[in-house]
Amino acid sequence: MKVLLVYPKYPDTFWSFRHALAFTGKKAAFPPLGLLTIAAMLPKEWTLRLLDENIGEISDEDILWADLVFISAMLAQSKATVEMLARCRLFRRDTVAGGAMFTSDPDRFSGLVDHLVLGEAERSLPYFLEDLKQGHAKPVYASEAKVYCDIMISPIPRWDLLQGTMRSYSSVSLQFGKGCPHDCEFCNVTGLNGRIMRLKTATRVIEELSVMYYAGWRGSVFFADDNFIGHKKKAKGVLSEIAVFQQTYGYPFQFYTQVDISLADDDELISMMARAGFFRVFIGIETPEIESLKGANKHLNAGVDMPASVKHLFQRGIQVQGGYVLGFDQDTVETPRKMIDLIQTTGVLTAMVGPLQALPGTRLYHRLSAEGRLLGNSTGDNTDGTVNFTPKGMTREELAVGYRNVVSTIYSPEMYYGRLLTFLDEYRPNPLLRHHFSWGSMRAFVFSVVRIGILSQARSWYWRSFIETARRNPAAFSAVVEHWIFRFHFDRVSRNLIKPES
Ligand code: SF4
Repeated sequence: MKVLLVYPKYPDTFWSFRHALAFTGKKAAFPPLGLLTIAAMLPKEWTLRLLDENIGEISDEDILWADLVFISAMLAQSKATVEMLARCRLFRRDTVAGGAMFTSDPDRFSGLVDHLVLGEAERSLPYFLEDLKQGHAKPVYASEAKVYCDIMISPIPRWDLLQGTMRSYSSVSLQFGKGCPHDCEFCNVTGLNGRIMRLKTATRVIEELSVMYYAGWRGSVFFADDNFIGHKKKAKGVLSEIAVFQQTYGYPFQFYTQVDISLADDDELISMMARAGFFRVFIGIETPEIESLKGANKHLNAGVDMPASVKHLFQRGIQVQGGYVLGFDQDTVETPRKMIDLIQTTGVLTAMVGPLQALPGTRLYHRLSAEGRLLGNSTGDNTDGTVNFTPKGMTREELAVGYRNVVSTIYSPEMYYGRLLTFLDEYRPNPLLRHHFSWGSMRAFVFSVVRIGILSQARSWYWRSFIETARRNPAAFSAVVEHWIFRFHFDRVSRNLIKPES
């Protein structure tokens, strides 16, 4: 059996970081961890090829080579996924699809895919493989809803399939655990992965890091957990082992992950993350509106002094990227302005702002559907400016205008520079990670000088920020370069968002 594992192309979104990747010569942010893991579950005698449309085109010959095509994707990749499925059908190649997008909304793809393998592949894929062997594979395989597998049976991803392409990615990823103990109404994590944290042992995490190390990887590693600190005690256990690994091998990796804001209250955990080599976290800050937080069941954010918490993390060497949402029922036309204020005072440079979207399978989706407010499918890109429901506290037009106002304001050079000064005053880079130098970062700096420092309209802010970096916080130099590159990307993407109204 010859099998092609296909990862469809991402659109040009905030999350793709496409315009930033060009500075470092990389083509995509991450390799497809799900497909690499699926590959490890397939029969050893099969011949496998993994092709990622984000790093190169997939030709008709590639599709014709295969007996079977496996596809996994997230909602944001739906357009490219449908196109790829149509090509496979044209060439009469059977397709097998699974992953979050197909599991959340299988009806959308019935008729387009030959075999849907839904839920966690560890549970549903073996039945498909057995039936395929017997020659009577069915159209749908679904594991029982809300019954989750032991994460330890998930195999180590087949990193060897990336031979020759690994360096096209800016980061690689692994998972320590799945699930989140919180239950925010808009989030699809608990529906897909449950509220009880399922975690790998420290030994297993170190084994996976070792595989990456010996595959030649050095640099950024993303822990693709829903919430890395969902079980703080066990997170501390694995962090102490990671710190030993990092010390032994001379800190080959710099880690980042997703957490909730309660990290800021646990100094021991922050220190352990810093010692293990974590330099950045993504946190769902969501909204400045307390009532909206409560309405969305995000109570853990409601009583938090967000600027103080974020600055505390900066001071301990952890950069913060924030997720923000507009359009909760309790939001009003005043909310966009308050959101801009919150983003500015916290000094979060990478602020991912998006209108609320009702994702299939979430409690929000069911509630809005019951209230007759659902207008259609979510695009899956929560920063593309679209809304798939009728908002309550403002009209759709007011929400769209408010959203564009937030994005165009926070990524204007002067506002970005203002946040950068706050960041410089607070951020204390992790000394354990300071020695890292790479030709990629040198290339990124030279390109940033040309494209931002000379050719862009933000050039005066760019140079001013280096003068301030030299004055206030020279150790933050490489972080400042990186943030200007990120801003270049966000500016490009936000201009496309704003265009339809101008
Ligand atoms: S804390 Fe984050 S991951 Fe957990 S349920 Fe809420 S939004 Fe989802």
